[in-house]
Amino acid sequence: AVAYVTGTLDDCACDVETIDRFNNKEIFPKLQKLLSSDYFRFYKVNLNNPCPFWTDHSQCGLKYCAVKPCTLGEVPEGLKSSSYKYSEAASQDIEECEKAEKLGAVNGSLSDETRQALQEWKKHDDESDRFCMLDDEDSPKSQYVDLLLNPERFTGYKGPEAWRIWNSIYEENCFKPYSVKRPLNPLASNSGLCVEKRAFFRLISGLHASINIHLSARYLLDENWFEMKWGHNVSEFQLRFDKELTEGEGPKRLRNLYFLYLIELRALAKILPYFERPAFHLYTGQHTQDNENKKLLLELLHVAKSFPLHFDETALFAGNNKEAMKLKEDFKLTFKNISRIMDCVECFKCRLWGKLQTQGLGSALKILFSERQIDAMPNTSNTNPSFQLSRQEIVSLRGRLKTSKSIKIIRFFSYSIHKTL
Ligand code: FAD
Repeated sequence: AVAYVTGTLDDCACDVETIDRFNNKEIFPKLQKLLSSDYFRFYKVNLNNPCPFWTDHSQCGLKYCAVKPCTLGEVPEGLKSSSYKYSEAASQDIEECEKAEKLGAVNGSLSDETRQALQEWKKHDDESDRFCMLDDEDSPKSQYVDLLLNPERFTGYKGPEAWRIWNSIYEENCFKPYSVKRPLNPLASNSGLCVEKRAFFRLISGLHASINIHLSARYLLDENWFEMKWGHNVSEFQLRFDKELTEGEGPKRLRNLYFLYLIELRALAKILPYFERPAFHLYTGQHTQDNENKKLLLELLHVAKSFPLHFDETALFAGNNKEAMKLKEDFKLTFKNISRIMDCVECFKCRLWGKLQTQGLGSALKILFSERQIDAMPNTSNTNPSFQLSRQEIVSLRGRLKTSKSIKIIRFFSYSIHKTL
């Protein structure tokens, strides 16, 4: 096959070929099965947040940018109840507790443990641990979207609007010593960027590559009155990633995608103790399905943990000194800003998936840098104030499927191009 990317990745002890084998055989099939379940399929999102950065916002009229939200009848009952937020064994009790609270009842029938679980959940504010802005799920503007019915694919969103988003991400929010007149390669070791800032740029570039791979793989190939034909567009992929056609940039962008994958894989491995607690449930109210999903999730996380060449995140923000802490804070703030830029994306379909993917990466970073809190989790108790993931953060795991699928798609394009040579 035409090898678009090969060899060892920068700043890691891992090579592209090992990732390909591991992903395509071990991770991708398990992720795909798990993420088509109801728990991961319905995503609550506010697509109507105003853009916080500019006001000359045009309305997107492209028909492929439309998103169809769910009617309430389409969403499983368990997800609509407030207990979904807790995802814990006590969730049913908590639901009762909340009902009782709403009714103003002093409910003596609730166990102390349940009452404490609810209080600790309410008290817990992990805003400071976050790398990403989350939508307020209780806002009346937030709606459920069925992700299987609104797939990420070619939408036709391009030109100055799309460029303004990417520009504002790279030039103002990516630690990039970049100027249009004098572009610098942020990956060059003489670029003046420290390893953390280089990593940041690579993650964003990897995310961008993933979006562009997906639109090339689910391209609108033909359309008439009766049907639309979606499929792989090899020349679109080549235009974006071929070495010759992109002045050498395409393969570097694909390598950044592999780097993103490594970070996400590491986060999957590290979150295992959180999901392994007996108290944790992927709660939808359909108990057999919920148990099956938890089993699948744990299988996936165990496999992720077995990967032999994990990224070593201790190389980032090392030293625990003032400088490292300041850098970590900047990293967080900058990433939060990027998640807010997603509210400026005019195309709703692109906004939906852009939000989900930045949230997914934000959750991965939160996990990666919360080792102390995850280790401090009690094993036996239902409560866990030291570390929490909201349902929105858990569902954004779906972003990981995107990266995993993108890796698979690169192979597909490589073979297709090889066959035509
Ligand atoms: P762009 O992809 O717009 O890139 C702009 C410039 O950034 C390029 O010229 C290049 O210099 C640089 N660049 C490109 N790729 C990388 C990279 N990986 N790393 C570093 N620099 C890079 N379109 C769809 O059809 N479907 C979608 O679902 C979709 N989702 C989107 C989500 C978001 C958040 C955004 C901002 C855009 C989305 N788009 C989507 C649009 C799509 O990403 C492109 O912007 C569009 O196809 C125009 O492509 P382009 O060739 O002009 O270059």
